[in-house]
Amino acid sequence: YNAKKPGIEFCFYSAQMNQKLQERTKLEFELWMALEREEFFLEYQPIVDARTGRIAAVEALVRWMSPERGRVMPDAFIPLAESTGIILPLGEWVLKTACTKLRQWLDAGGLPLRMSVNISGCQFMRSELCRLVEEAAEQSGVDLALLELELTETCLIKDVEETATKLWRLKGLNVSIGIDDFGTGYSSLQYLKNFPIDHLKIDRAFIRNVCELPDERAIVDAIIGIAKAMELHVIAEGVETLEQAEYLRHRGCDELQGYYYHRPLSEERLLEVLREERERLGIAAGAAGGGE
Ligand code: C2E
Ligand code: MG
Ligand code: MG
Ligand code: MG
Repeated sequence: YNAKKPGIEFCFYSAQMNQKLQERTKLEFELWMALEREEFFLEYQPIVDARTGRIAAVEALVRWMSPERGRVMPDAFIPLAESTGIILPLGEWVLKTACTKLRQWLDAGGLPLRMSVNISGCQFMRSELCRLVEEAAEQSGVDLALLELELTETCLIKDVEETATKLWRLKGLNVSIGIDDFGTGYSSLQYLKNFPIDHLKIDRAFIRNVCELPDERAIVDAIIGIAKAMELHVIAEGVETLEQAEYLRHRGCDELQGYYYHRPLSEERLLEVLREERERLGIAAGAAGGGE
């Protein structure tokens, strides 16, 4: 045993930790700059009605176009945005931008569509979400019945009573509320008991092997069962194959989202996809109605 060794190891780890800390500080600085320079942008992933296959909603997903790092996905910056408070201005920007876009699309003659926005636990606890939602509605003119918030459990929601009060106030504004990544992380059955929830989104980890693994299937079936019993809307995310889509539809899943249908799309691409869908429906309706 060499008495010097722990010391050497200590130095090694401490240098590594120091580097990590420096990297975090640098990233934090860049994120504040990114807000200032408006380098964040949204993509929109369609959510389809399981029965009709029509696009019922889109989920806004934030990305960062960094001049230095290129395109950065949210998993690489949301956790730091949460721990530094950047999530507050960033989340406000996402909410307001998503509402403004939805209103623009509807004004341009789009079919009715809901907009889903992710709200992280920290953001939920620390921001005056009700006021922000009201502001977003005022600024955009969007009907709040079309807005749904996905509570993303990246931070533990601690105060159940305060959370319930906030959620009821949001419900008073006509906004619908869902639990994202249901079945993983911190989200739990407790939420269903205590909070006014409208929908559950089954985490894609359970969808991946739903056709192959009986255990995964049992979990998915159970979640759908709970949702049905509690009269909640149930959505599956991460649907990548026709088999998964068919299984979930047969089980009574209301809406499906995943690469099988659409990847997250730029605004331009989304509008194209919506236009194509409208044309297809128009043709189908014309054929069925025999000409009108
Ligand atoms: P999420 O809300 O659960 O979003 C689903 C993620 O799964 C998205 O990743 C989406 O691109 C990806 N996905 C969708 N369909 C499939 C599929 O069929 N297969 C696979 N493998 N992946 C699929 P993304 O865009 O990287 O977002 C990751 C997470 O970052 C989100 O998970 C959400 O928790 C968070 N996030 C994104 N935008 C925001 C935001 O504006 N605010 C907050 N607070 N969090 C956000
Ligand atoms: Mg989500
Ligand atoms: Mg999710
Ligand atoms: Mg997720």
